[in-house]
Amino acid sequence: VGEGGEITYKKIQSSQIMGSIQLGIQHAIGGLASKPERDLLMQDFMTVETTNFPHEGSNHTPAHHYSEFKFKTYAPIAFRYFRDLFGIQPDDFLMSMCSAPLRELSNPGASGSIFYLTNDDEFIIKTVQHKEGEFLQKLLPGYYLNLDQNPRTLLPKFFGLYCYQCNSKNVRLVAMNNLLPSSIKMHQKYDLKGSTYKRKASKTERQKTSPTYKDLDFMEHHNEGIFLEADTYTALIKTMQRDCRVLESFKIMDYSLLVGIHNLDDAQREKNEARKLTESGQSDGEDNEGETKRTGLNRTRSINRQRLVAHSTAMESIQAESEPIDEEEDVPSGGIPARNARGERLLLFLGIIDILQSYRLRKKLEHTWKSMIHDGDTVSVHRPSFYAQRFLDFMAKTVFKKIPSLDLPEIKGNH
Ligand code: ATP
Ligand code: CA
Ligand code: CA
Repeated sequence: VGEGGEITYKKIQSSQIMGSIQLGIQHAIGGLASKPERDLLMQDFMTVETTNFPHEGSNHTPAHHYSEFKFKTYAPIAFRYFRDLFGIQPDDFLMSMCSAPLRELSNPGASGSIFYLTNDDEFIIKTVQHKEGEFLQKLLPGYYLNLDQNPRTLLPKFFGLYCYQCNSKNVRLVAMNNLLPSSIKMHQKYDLKGSTYKRKASKTERQKTSPTYKDLDFMEHHNEGIFLEADTYTALIKTMQRDCRVLESFKIMDYSLLVGIHNLDDAQREKNEARKLTESGQSDGEDNEGETKRTGLNRTRSINRQRLVAHSTAMESIQAESEPIDEEEDVPSGGIPARNARGERLLLFLGIIDILQSYRLRKKLEHTWKSMIHDGDTVSVHRPSFYAQRFLDFMAKTVFKKIPSLDLPEIKGNH
């Protein structure tokens, strides 16, 4: 946060970054229309297009009232191909990215990255470090070899890499899929790595309206884990195994599983509470401020709408099919049905995030003996595989549990 309470990144006002990148992206997508669709070539991964945005506008760019800037688009043809792979039409991408102001999300991470959410809830734009941007560029051909073979994955889907340059400062940005629909209330949110060293949400984080908790918090809140039906459990773990193999092959580590939990029973209770309040005329509209903001226009549109990005809901990512849910029940779609130890019905929204750190990159960063000893992991070329194994173990044994088959009929009937 900068002077006057404005959020800044590298001393540039966030509102200026948002507005400028929307101009940049609009120009980049528009420019692509003149380039016919064709097969991808290796060199498409290496191209960078740069455009100047002077105040007064130019033949190709509109006039604007932000500071003058340059906008770089990395691998435009390659990213067009990836968007196509996930069924995103150019017009739709343009609409999502540019037709309405972006929303800034509060970031619990230590990295200082800024996150923007598109107004239609489909995409997240994250600022990344120079090294991470470079790494993504190198990773692209191989990464998409994997996504092309298997688009049903929990791995992050990248739809664009850009650089906004202003006053000799560089702000690098990636566009990716949003995992947590904001129309659905997440009663709990976890960023899980399978490590216990320093994996507790900070006090400031815990005081937020919607904190992102970590591994130790999870074990405290859900000491018996979260229960899935056998088929769902197997599909989820298999997907994560497959995904971790890809990450390990690129020597990537430090990634997390982001898990958003919508508790259907809590949601029902909240609804009843709200109804009681209105009936007794006590509603002052202040209490559920966040709720009303979202429930207005967005809700009807996005709660049961098909996502723009294909194969991108949690259920689709793990290739599981939902049991048909009673029509009259207003249950949000796309989440993975689960239960907590108290038997409450949950919907899980999840995916793997923050994968742009490779081992080669990280070993140069601050890396203390202490963290190595406490993390139980040693300095060796095996670290990415150690990381993947520990991650998978934690997910398969501590976080997710198979519902014992004896209980199955009763629980299935209610989902
Ligand atoms: P650090 O490197 O300090 O861990 P970071 O700045 O690299 O943090 P991430 O770990 O990528 O940030 O993400 C931080 C938080 O942002 C996540 O815990 C999650 O709450 C939210 N987030 C990140 N990616 C997504 C996504 N694709 N969809 C929804 N929320 C996301
Ligand atoms: Ca992270
Ligand atoms: Ca990070």
